Amino acid sequence: MAGNWKMFKTPAETIAFFEKFRPLVEKSEHCEIVICPPFTNLSAAVDAVKGSPIRIGAQNIAWAKEGAFTGEISGPMLLAAGATHAIVGHSERRQYFGETDATVLKRTQAALEYGLTPIVCVGERLEEREGGRTEDVLKKQFADGIAGLTAAQFARIVIAYEPVWAIGTGKTATPEIAADAHRAIRGEVRAKFGKDAADAVRILYGGSVKGDNVKTLMAQPEIDGSLVGGASLEAVSFASIVNF
Ligand code: PEP
Repeated sequence: MAGNWKMFKTPAETIAFFEKFRPLVEKSEHCEIVICPPFTNLSAAVDAVKGSPIRIGAQNIAWAKEGAFTGEISGPMLLAAGATHAIVGHSERRQYFGETDATVLKRTQAALEYGLTPIVCVGERLEEREGGRTEDVLKKQFADGIAGLTAAQFARIVIAYEPVWAIGTGKTATPEIAADAHRAIRGEVRAKFGKDAADAVRILYGGSVKGDNVKTLMAQPEIDGSLVGGASLEAVSFASIVNF
């Protein structure tokens, strides 16, 4: 269960969140819990979760180790800050910051190179779904992106299916719609990396997941977890998702 805080919270607010959140999930052993705060809160978050199984991730990662890349943060920097995961290719990065499947692949490879677990996001836009092109879009995002990994690299990634029309809109995909998309993604994985890789890869669903819809989504065997935006910002709300 992963929380994406997007561009919200200061370090002080991060500390306050974890003071409330930690006791609420202390008995939750059924899943991994990852929170991805803004870069400026990574250290505060890592300190705040010390001694707990909660992991901290970044919301992006540079493809280079270091250099003249103003505004980017590299894998070694994230590692030094104590992060263990990095979201890659979030639809907001694709929509507002020119992220492409090619850069998603490079960032994913960088995360793997430095020992971070990439959470790689894919998903169709509303007009693509309405035009009946969802599977084609997912296929293309896969083929032009993470299909470029080696089998050994692929075994270490997490995929997040996030239909863009469901992100921050309150319009959750029905469990059946989400499961169909997850099946389509798993089909691509099977074709490229084989059955064992397809069975093993964790595919999270993301898009307006809340405490009151997480149970029906997670009841789908195809759905292995959630990537949660808005509802991860508040401790009780995210804990209710973790403890579904
Ligand atoms: C997200 O940002 O990855 C996300 C799924 O957002 P929300 O849960 O707010 O729809």
